[in-house]
Amino acid sequence: MNSATATALLAGLEQGAISSEEIVIGLLDRADRLKRLNVFVHLDPDHVLSQARAIDKRRRSGDSVGPLAGVPVAIKDLLCVEGEPTTCGSRMLRTFRPPYDATVISRLKQAGAILFGKTNMDEFAMGSSTENSAYGPTLNPWDETRVPGGSSGGSAAAVAAGLAPIALGSDTGGSIRQPAAVCGIVGLKPTYGRVSRYGLIAFASSLDQIGPFAHDLADTALILKAISGHDPRDSTSVDDSVPDYPATLGTPPESLRIGVVPEFFGEGLDPEVESAIREAIRVYEQAGATIRKVSLPNSRSGIPAYYIVAPAECSSNLARYDGTIYGHRAADFSPRYPGEESLAPMVRMMMASRAEGFGAEVKRRIMLGTFVLSAGYADQYYNQALKVRRLIRNDFDSAFKEVDVLIGPTSPTPAFKLGERTSNPLAMYLSDIYTITANLAGIPGLSIPCGLTKSNLPIGLQLLAPAFAEEKLLRTARVFERATDWHLKRPGVKE
Ligand code: GLN
Repeated sequence: MNSATATALLAGLEQGAISSEEIVIGLLDRADRLKRLNVFVHLDPDHVLSQARAIDKRRRSGDSVGPLAGVPVAIKDLLCVEGEPTTCGSRMLRTFRPPYDATVISRLKQAGAILFGKTNMDEFAMGSSTENSAYGPTLNPWDETRVPGGSSGGSAAAVAAGLAPIALGSDTGGSIRQPAAVCGIVGLKPTYGRVSRYGLIAFASSLDQIGPFAHDLADTALILKAISGHDPRDSTSVDDSVPDYPATLGTPPESLRIGVVPEFFGEGLDPEVESAIREAIRVYEQAGATIRKVSLPNSRSGIPAYYIVAPAECSSNLARYDGTIYGHRAADFSPRYPGEESLAPMVRMMMASRAEGFGAEVKRRIMLGTFVLSAGYADQYYNQALKVRRLIRNDFDSAFKEVDVLIGPTSPTPAFKLGERTSNPLAMYLSDIYTITANLAGIPGLSIPCGLTKSNLPIGLQLLAPAFAEEKLLRTARVFERATDWHLKRPGVKE
């Protein structure tokens, strides 16, 4: 049962073959036996059980129940759930319990889903390995000496390890697609504006987007439909109708013109990853696709532009955590360094609280962001990066005049070893080299399983489509899923 998809569980629930209570008892038990993976930062069995019993009761009494009724969903710990711990992987928010639900959470509740625990993540979603969590790293279920990717590593590992059939994460530069790729599952970053960000703890507001993790595309379509749509509480959410993704998934796209981007096959690409992607291209060719080379010349500036824009926005978003209204407050803020005696006690309190509450990577980003926005430097850095961002978007606009979707690798390498990149921030940043441009351009990106290395590590295929073309993206990916069985592979996790 722990390898079942949400669609399969829903069928069992509808037929009365299984109850939601039985499903969650099985998963809670498994979670208990797989504690070593460190997937959840918070999991309250009583709360999970009471949600399951309530939905079973409604189903039995013949009430109409939502499209995800009784299905457990694991939640990245940066989505606010009323009254439940929401730490964002940080010491700063160790005791925070939000007074309200994020919009995606209220939508999941309306759909009848069971909120199944909060998953581990890199602090404030900054990282690619989940090693920047204040609560310790999560292990990759395929190889426990390796990282599950990040920053949504807990959510990806939860689905891969069979601890929840589906999960939510967030993607600012790759944080859904890259962990999905290295954990052998599907991960989708929707178009900026498709899903409301209300109640998502902000990292870089112009790039952040919430999206699903699942074993296959049917489940991805199901959850995407449930969370998408306009929300008056997020002015960047688009007021447009939401396509019926599950209903149209089975229909192959009218046109299958696929662009292969030479810039996505550059230096640092693992040879086994490359050959799996080349093989995926052949699968599409056999399915009748026209394959064309399309260049995205400005994508090589993706990492530098992102590491100016994202830290700039983060330095502003994280300014609120100073121990006054938000965040950890230091108990001792007596002067520590020469000169601090002359500072007001409140200033010392803020300094000590931020010093204690934030980890090293978050501090690095805040300093970088403050610098690139400072008077005299903003033009050289921040404003310049915005221009590069526009050029990246223009590249995609011209590419999508010629092809329907672009394909390439999601991550340049399979899952790397724990500790391998922690002392080298640049090596860590390069994990997102192929995912980051979609965030800068605001377009949707999808990662689907497309192979395993000789040492049994998953490889992900990335597909990119124009803004709001999620339907096309999913249907195009479905062509590959139908022709292969990579989405059926599961890691052999020992309980
Ligand atoms: N790894 C990237 C970063 O560290 C992207 C993170 C994300 O998408 N949240 O910023």
